[in-house]
Amino acid sequence: MKFGTKAIHAGQEPDPTTGAIMTPIYQTSTYVQEAPAKHKGYAYARGKNPTRTALESCLAALENADHCLCFSSGMGAVDTIIKLLSPGDEVIATDDLYGGTYRLFTKVFEKMGIRFHFVDMHDFAAVEACVNDKTRMIWIETPTNPMMKIIDIAHYTAMANRLGIWSVVDNTFASPYLQNPLDMGADIVMHSATKYLGGHSDVVMGALMTNSKELYDQLAFITNSCGPVPGPQDSFLVLRGLKTLHLRMKAHCENGRAVAEFLRAHPKVGKVYWPGFPDHPNHEVAKRQMRDFGGMISFTLKSDSFDDASELAQSLRVFSLAESLGGVESLVGHPASMTHASIPREERIKTGLVDSLLRLSVGVEDMEDIIEDLRQALEKVK
Ligand SMILES: *Cc1c(COP(=O)(O)O)cnc(C)c1O
Repeated sequence: MKFGTKAIHAGQEPDPTTGAIMTPIYQTSTYVQEAPAKHKGYAYARGKNPTRTALESCLAALENADHCLCFSSGMGAVDTIIKLLSPGDEVIATDDLYGGTYRLFTKVFEKMGIRFHFVDMHDFAAVEACVNDKTRMIWIETPTNPMMKIIDIAHYTAMANRLGIWSVVDNTFASPYLQNPLDMGADIVMHSATKYLGGHSDVVMGALMTNSKELYDQLAFITNSCGPVPGPQDSFLVLRGLKTLHLRMKAHCENGRAVAEFLRAHPKVGKVYWPGFPDHPNHEVAKRQMRDFGGMISFTLKSDSFDDASELAQSLRVFSLAESLGGVESLVGHPASMTHASIPREERIKTGLVDSLLRLSVGVEDMEDIIEDLRQALEKVK
């Protein structure tokens, strides 16, 4: 089955009692058993819920995976994956990770004796230099936030295989429509389903997928033991969101391309970060591992003024100033004052995250309205 058909049908059957085409919201905490320990596969809802099962089956199909687990947030999925490790173990991770992942690694898990190396993964040798006999996992995020760096997934999954360690890819920014890391040899792929998978800015959820039964069993054990499971209502919302994932992603990509090209040609705009440009430093890798280039774009102003960027963000009418991404509505963020405000200015600037950098999550509104909005807001700044 092709992607769009799976997005609509995978894991779902008409309800056996009523024929309802949509999977019901099974709002229940427990299930009646015929005799002690004799049940239909469902005993208690922390372990399993039928609405969640339908969602997990659909998500597994979209990542070409054998197994999927859903979580109450993306961070719940990250937390569960790191709990595969033991004190003394080491992880090599992308240097510009999602801020929440960086915080969980450094503020929660380092304290428990797990060590993290944050490396620029464009530099293959620098990554090799971090490997030692305690290395257990390599954690990849691509494209990265907000600099839109592209990491070569196949290179690092091959390296992980050679070393006998786990490779994990946070696939939130690309979504399974654009990129399938398990097909490139990754052991685990994870998502913040809050973003493109849900797609309507109305739910917080996470997911992970794997082809390894052994890993799945361990991860399911940790999930059932620790309890970060999503409720049936949220599972239903993501299941419904998935039905238009392919349509939304197509529109995000078309609008993203138009916005990237418009910004690049604008006299007040400095740099535009979007992996679809042939002169993006890792465009060739992006072309190889992604089907298209998505709707996430960052750009700077020629003035590089903090105030101009802030004024621009406030002048936009179609774009809303907000954190998060991947919903139908266009969003703008100013990392220097929002998501990355806690990083000292000099360090922030060294990574390219300058005062005027703005990040766009291009939505699926009409392209003409999106471009016109950017044009009128850019007129207002110096
Ligand atoms: C949002 C996000 C997360 C965390 O997910 P939540 O659903 O907010 O907990 C992890 N990784 C990336 C890349 C994200 O964008």
